[in-house]
Formats: sequence, structure tokens, C-alpha cells
Amino acid sequence: MGCSLLLCSCLVALFIPIQAIVDINVATANDIHNNLNRTTSPCTNFWNFACGSFSSPSEYVDNFERVEDQFASAMVEFMESHLGENDTLAPRLIGQMRQYYKACTEDTRKLHGNPRPQELVNHWTLHPKKFLVDGLNGVFIDERVDVAANDSIRWVIQLRMPDPSDRYSDRRVLQLMRLYEEAWYTRGVVELVEKMHQLQDKYREENPVVYTWSYSELRQQVPIPHSFFIELLGVNQELDHLTFEVSDVEYLRECFRFLRDFASEPRDTYIRARQYVLLEESEPRERNPRSCIHHMRAYLPLGMNYIYDRFIYQNRKEDTSRVLEILSTLKAVFGKYLDANRLQLTPNQLAYVRAKLEGIKIKIGNLPEEKSPEFYNNHYGSANFSATNFLANLLEALALRTRLQNAGLLARNSRVDLRHYYVNDNVRKARTSPFYENERNTITVPMEFLQWPLFDHREHTIFQHSLLGAVLGHEMNHAFEQEGILFDAAGNESPVGLEIRESQPFRDAIKCAEKQPFVSLKERLADLNGLQLAYDAFFGLAHDSRQFEYRPYAFEREFTAPQLFHLSYAQFFCGSLPPVIAHDRDDERVNVSVGNLRQFAYDFNCETSPSSVCEMWRPGEEANSNRNVHP
Ligand SMILES: [Zn+2]
Repeated sequence: MGCSLLLCSCLVALFIPIQAIVDINVATANDIHNNLNRTTSPCTNFWNFACGSFSSPSEYVDNFERVEDQFASAMVEFMESHLGENDTLAPRLIGQMRQYYKACTEDTRKLHGNPRPQELVNHWTLHPKKFLVDGLNGVFIDERVDVAANDSIRWVIQLRMPDPSDRYSDRRVLQLMRLYEEAWYTRGVVELVEKMHQLQDKYREENPVVYTWSYSELRQQVPIPHSFFIELLGVNQELDHLTFEVSDVEYLRECFRFLRDFASEPRDTYIRARQYVLLEESEPRERNPRSCIHHMRAYLPLGMNYIYDRFIYQNRKEDTSRVLEILSTLKAVFGKYLDANRLQLTPNQLAYVRAKLEGIKIKIGNLPEEKSPEFYNNHYGSANFSATNFLANLLEALALRTRLQNAGLLARNSRVDLRHYYVNDNVRKARTSPFYENERNTITVPMEFLQWPLFDHREHTIFQHSLLGAVLGHEMNHAFEQEGILFDAAGNESPVGLEIRESQPFRDAIKCAEKQPFVSLKERLADLNGLQLAYDAFFGLAHDSRQFEYRPYAFEREFTAPQLFHLSYAQFFCGSLPPVIAHDRDDERVNVSVGNLRQFAYDFNCETSPSSVCEMWRPGEEANSNRNVHP
């Protein structure tokens, strides 16, 4: 007994120093080496060179799944422990989150394939006319609560026609109707869906005109019944203080005229079926501890982030100071770009861009500034979760999300309460990558992202600047691409921004980026400019690797600093290639980005360098050669 105890304590004693010896930089460099595919030349397909061996040894689709899984493991451990049970700061919130998790993982009844679960039938009976308060969107119209284009702290309701992607839900509705409903209803629903799609096809425009209207103006322009807004907002109160931003007006007019005369039974059947499909789409495909955590990250972001931040996240202080340092370096370099003024901006336009640059803020974790425990403890107070019924909880969570989105709108003056602001939109999958919001001029870095191998505060700056630096560079450049430039430092649309966008040098820069095919132009611009900015921030402006000899790092003896920079940058994109959604495919993104960084070919001694690269804000090569060479 004594012996095995002794053995045990020896192991513990040995274990700690071994852990400490594994240097984070060695680990990062090893990870990079493991992903290499040396059968490809970095000059012809850099993504394949840097990431080509990713899938074989890895259990994850990409590095995002890897950090998301780490996040989920830690949260599962919390949920299944007794931690926070006697909490004095936010016991109610923690209790609610645990109940939701418990029902998600333990209630084995599944919604999928069960079109009339009792909870939903009860819900329909209890709230026959309140479908919209459950966040039912894309049915007849698309509605969201956002801020006004010309006033970034005023809440407005935006109305437009549904997005084409909502047709997947309609297809599922028709499938369900054929399976379960009576012929007469089915005919009516099919007719209704076809009519809506016809109207959408007829009136869909690339850039529809947006009208700003008061409630009474809206009612004069579009025959939307008053009851619709009572449903939408879940309250019957004066709506005259609300502002609406309405697009696709012709569609909305015809749509509501048609609905007014359409039989109510098939219409209500359709709405119910769409609500069922919404629930089906919201339920995790397989319910297990990890998938439940991912589901909760998307649907209950405040609760999940609060728990992670308080009980699991260790390095807020260190991470924050590193991230802020990187951001300030990026800002300083962008400031130098503006000194060179490649886009020939007028003094007034330059001042506009500089103010915006100065004003860019960063937020670690999607959490409000508010620190008081009561705020967090009561935030989900109106939701009634149970520990045994997942479906009832899901209905509750959807309604809660809509209620919280509408809360600011219904407050007097409809002003954004900046202290309580966080992103709570209708996502089904939570964000892991940093994102920029024009209206807040803020980059949010989710805490999920700040985990190795994507980031670690102890890493050498070359790893931090090449990966997180390039990602922050990408997000920063959203402030200065063709859409972001329209918003000023305070997040309001400005005529100065429009002037810049219309100027010839700006348009030429965009034309250059359009030469290679893309999925989204603004993402392409953010990619190209982001990498250039991060590279300049680390190596200095007009760096030329042909003029230097590099001493190897202790943790990396094969690749020179500039080569390692590119390889580390590529790790963000390593993985098996997923289908294209809002960005280009990952291999395309890496290859196009390095292809437009004029130093890349020098850094890898490529024989041919690209004849022309697209640079927008970065000073041109000639501009640099005219100035003194940096030390
Ligand atoms: Zn982007």
C-alpha cells in the first residue's frame, strides 16, 4: 500500500516537469510540420503544401473543430460537476443552464420524424396566434431587429422578403404535408408556397431601395394587419414610436393582399408546419453532451459565455493584453499606409478614415460590458426551463431569444443600451472566428478562438502575428472595404464614405481584386488586405527577404522567419475542405492571399513571381523605393 502510494506521488512529481518541458513554440512548430505535404511546391499550391497532410493524422475536420471541441469538453465537465451549485453571484442563471443541458442530454425523445409532439400541440393550443413571438422568420417576410443606418444606437425593425435559403424549409414543409396531412390542406399549402415563391422571384432585386417609415406610414404603404405586429412583438402596445426600414415594398404589398383573401385553414397549417420545421432545424442532429453544448452556445450565448468566462477561461488578462498589443501594431501600420495615401484621398476623407481606424475597438468574448452579477442572474429570468423536457425548453429558448431581441425596441426611445449589448442573433451555429460589426466599429474575438493551436498568449510573436494578426487584419479591413467604408467611426452611414467608395483609385483597387473569381468581394478584399497588413506589422514596411540572412529560431530550424510566418498563417485554414458558404474555399483563400502578397515569392524562392498583385491601402513598391529604406 505504502509502496503504491509512493509510486503514485513519484509519478505526479515527474509528470509536472515533463509537461513544462513541452514548450508551446516547439508544440506549435511540430503541429505545422505535421500538416505539411512536401510532395507539393509552396510556389504552385501553398495551401496544399502547408495543409495537405492535415486530415490523415487528425480526428478533426479543421482547427476550428479542434478548439470548439476543447471548449465543449470543458463545458461538459462543468455541467456534470457540482461547480457553481452554491454560487452567490448568478445561481439562477447557472441553474437554468444546467437544467437545459440536463434535458438536452437525458431526455431521449427526439423531435425529428414526430410531426405532432404533444408539447407543440399544447403550444399551438395555448398560443394559437403567437407564432411570430417564437422567432419564426422567413414565413411570408423576413423580420429582424437592427439599428438604423443613419443612427447606430437607435433600434429599428427591418422588413424584407424572405431569403432564398428559406426555401429549404418550405421544401421540408411540403414533404411533411404529403406524409401527414389531408389532401385539401395539402393543396392549399402547396398553392400558398408556390404563390409566395412566384412573388419573390418576380420582385427580387440585387440592391432594393430601403424606405425608413414610422408605423403609420408603413400601415399606409403596405396592408400588414395590426395583429401581425402584436404577434411579432408579443405585446399589445402603442407602436407609433417604432421606426421601420422596409425593402422589397412591391413584394410585401402583393404578399399581404394575397394573404388577406386566402383561406385561413391552409394558411395556419402552413405556419404551424414551418414552426415545426424550425424546431427540427434547431434540434441537434444527435443529442449528446458535446452537441448539446454546441447547440447551447448558439441559442443561449450569454449564459454559456458567462459560465465559460467565470469558471473555465484562465487567461483573460494575458490574452487581452496580447490581443490589444497586436491590434495596436496593426493600427499603427495602417496609419503608415494612410501617410502614403495610395488611394489619393482628400484631407477630409483621410481624417474620416483615420478617425475610424482610431475608433476600432476589440472585445474578448461575446459578453456585455456590464459587470453586475444581477444583470447576468436575471437575464434569462423570463424563461422557464425544465430538467426533463428538451422540446419544451427549445420552444422556450426560441421565444426567449426573440423576446430579448425585441426588448430594446420596446423600451422608450428604442435606444441601444451599450452597456448591455452583445450579439444575440438568429444563428444555428455559434461563431468561433472573430467578427467585425460596422455599427459598433468593434471586433469581437470569441473565447473559443483563444485556444491553442489557434492562439496562446505564451507563443512567440511570429505565431501570434501570422495567425491571430492576419485574422484581426482581415476583420479590421472589413471597416475599409466597399461596404464597411460607408460607415463612419460611430457606425453611421456617411456621405464621406460614399465619396471614397466612388473615387477612381478605390474603384480601380476593387477591379483588381475582382479579376480572380470570388464568392464574396468584401471577403476577398479583407483577405488580401488583412494578410498584407499582418505581414507588414511583423516585418515592417517594404520588407525584402532577399536582403537578409535569417538565424533559425530555437524551436524551428528548417524554415526561415518569413516562411514560418506564411505556414503559421495557413494553419487557420488547414482542414479537409468544407463546402463553400460565405467565403471562398479555404485552399483558394490561402492561395489567392499569398499570391497577392508581393514578398511571398521571394520568401519561398519561387522562380516566377506574380506579374501584378492587388494592393489597395498598402503603399506600392515604387512608393517604398522612393523613401528611405527602413532600418
Ligand atoms: Zn470576413
